[in-house]
Amino acid sequence: MNIVMINIPFKAPWLGENKWITVPPQNYGGIQWIVKNLMDGMLELGHSVTLLGAPGSPETHPKLTVLPHGEIKDIEKWLEENEGKYDIVHDHTCRGEEFNENFNQFNWKVINSHYLSSVPLRKKNIVAASQAHAKDIGMPNVPFIRHPVNPNNYVFTENKSNYLLFLGRVSDWKGAYEAASFAEKAGLKLVIAGPVWEKEYFEAIMSRYKKTVRYVGEVGGEKRLELLSRSKAILVFSNSVTGPAGRTWVEPGSTVVSEAAACGTPVISSSNGCLSEIVPRVGKVIDDLEVVTQEAARGIIKNLPLPSDVYRNGLEDWDYLKISEQYLQLYEKVLHGHTW
Ligand code: UDP
Repeated sequence: MNIVMINIPFKAPWLGENKWITVPPQNYGGIQWIVKNLMDGMLELGHSVTLLGAPGSPETHPKLTVLPHGEIKDIEKWLEENEGKYDIVHDHTCRGEEFNENFNQFNWKVINSHYLSSVPLRKKNIVAASQAHAKDIGMPNVPFIRHPVNPNNYVFTENKSNYLLFLGRVSDWKGAYEAASFAEKAGLKLVIAGPVWEKEYFEAIMSRYKKTVRYVGEVGGEKRLELLSRSKAILVFSNSVTGPAGRTWVEPGSTVVSEAAACGTPVISSSNGCLSEIVPRVGKVIDDLEVVTQEAARGIIKNLPLPSDVYRNGLEDWDYLKISEQYLQLYEKVLHGHTW
């Protein structure tokens, strides 16, 4: 199949003038990692992939073409000019607001992932990342497919160090504060890695939990892999507070959960959104952190699943080839005129 993947395009000022976040991302970037792991699967299964929305990404496979279009208007123009030349467009741009209203009236066959909007639906063929996500966007009956993970992009080890990890945007809805609270109860250090765009929130954590937390900034490359694979557990305490789209946050798919699993790193999480669906396979879900005592927190750490079980269970569900096959089945349906 000839597949067009559209990444969520972002310029990152901190990378330098006019530099785009690539696929895979230089540092923070959940959707970019999902696109990377999925593209790996499609390429390995023999399909061709043309990538838009991530100029400068490495062309790491003979069947991968990276186009220089990042601005939405340029992507739209390219799509208009190339109508009919490819089989399917897999759009990861998320919000349903970016493309103009005519986009889906082109002759393209489209699949849409990561839809997070509360605006009236303008997209068709939406695929959610979990049951919770499908419900949250008001479409409980759309298909859902978990985030893919390619273990070759991660490092598995059974040799864990004695610290916990928060890896993500340091924001209220991602639960960095709650991660620090859990780490303190468990008597372990918490490494926080990720961008800080909500300064007051970050400072509140650092002043309340200064003895527990070590902040290492936004990480990429080797440093990110080392943290992911060496931490004793990763903490994902997503919160039901107002999220980036201005609505109550419901964790849609959680990239870090499948990434941790590929490293054999157990996950300790809240029950927000998809977490109660996926984390029981690879760790422990805590319904109400406030009632967790020091003793209970230490007990949770003691009883974490083995790295080999975490890896096996995670990959059984989220392996990139399996997930690619699931998408290919939907692509086929769309190619045969099926729409939802
Ligand atoms: N991440 C990273 N460096 C950081 C913080 C996060 O590479 O310093 C990556 C992390 O590995 C994951 C993504 O950013 O791939 C965050 O995605 P997730 O779905 O967990 O969170 P969201 O996209 O909702 O912020």
